[in-house]
Amino acid sequence: TFLLPFKKPKEYNVWLIFTKVSQRSPLRYKFHNLLENILNISSVPLKFHIIVDNSSKQLAVGEISDVVSHSNKAIFYKFYDVEACARAISDIVDVMTPHFSSKPGTYYSDALFYISLGLYRIAPPSQRTALLLDCDLYFKKDIRLVFEEFDKFKPTALFGLAPELTPVYRHVLQTYKVKKNSTFGEYYHSKAISSNMQHPRGFQGYNSGVVLINLSAIRKSKEYSQIIRNETVQYLTSKYKFRGHLGDQDFYTLIGFEYPDLIQTINCGFNRQLCVWWREHGYRDVFDFYFKCQHPAVILHGNCNTKIPK
Ligand code: UDP
Ligand code: MN
Repeated sequence: TFLLPFKKPKEYNVWLIFTKVSQRSPLRYKFHNLLENILNISSVPLKFHIIVDNSSKQLAVGEISDVVSHSNKAIFYKFYDVEACARAISDIVDVMTPHFSSKPGTYYSDALFYISLGLYRIAPPSQRTALLLDCDLYFKKDIRLVFEEFDKFKPTALFGLAPELTPVYRHVLQTYKVKKNSTFGEYYHSKAISSNMQHPRGFQGYNSGVVLINLSAIRKSKEYSQIIRNETVQYLTSKYKFRGHLGDQDFYTLIGFEYPDLIQTINCGFNRQLCVWWREHGYRDVFDFYFKCQHPAVILHGNCNTKIPK
């Protein structure tokens, strides 16, 4: 007998976090603009999974109906309660917060920064892949292109991330670098090849405004559950003398140093950050080396509240 190759249908899960929103907060129109933008530009059937608190949920419902009423497309969406999500990942949050949060806040505001690391517990078990997006994004090209990056994952990759485009990790790694002469935290050189095989051209760290998550691979991975344990995080942060303040992306950056097989580096065009804060704060001389992105932009990211040119 022959077994016909059975190809699972592609799924297009988009996860958004929409919490602590009030009538007049900028996040409200960012969310509106992003939904409208994605709806216009997507050629694939999307499912939205939106993490909300009670009051933000009402605002989200309003924005969704507004976007739908001005479009000829439907939006398929489901809400997830942020407090339930926080409970599901509380062990991860407890491990990460002391190293990667600027000032520990309330119970669920800490959890917000680490959702991507525990999404495999929050998403329904049938969900195999997820794309977690910030709300301050603008798609220049079809979101399908982002999902196609999953097909290029190396077999060991659990997450797909684009580089951080500022010298923030050069800054964070200052103490480590003067002692070790390492290329970690260095900008990507087009020619320089260092002794480090995994990141031969410097390594700027990762930005988590766009996170591709291979949920089924994470659920199967024996290594992953070890890596998010306190022992590993203690080991990594002390080895690199690393004290961050950017949540999950600090952890991904450390994983990029130590366990690069677990992360697929996607190109900077998939998360073209626009924040230039570090240019004016001590790094004017090197900023542009980090900031440059020679790939065509698929997603613009108006981080640190930067206005997105359209
Ligand atoms: N976010 C939220 N409530 C907040 C702040 C942030 O739900 O009060 C979510 C939202 O999805 C946002 C993401 O967290 O896009 C990351 O925040 P932001 O994009 O402002 O950070 P940046 O990219 O500037 O570092
Ligand atoms: Mn952002």
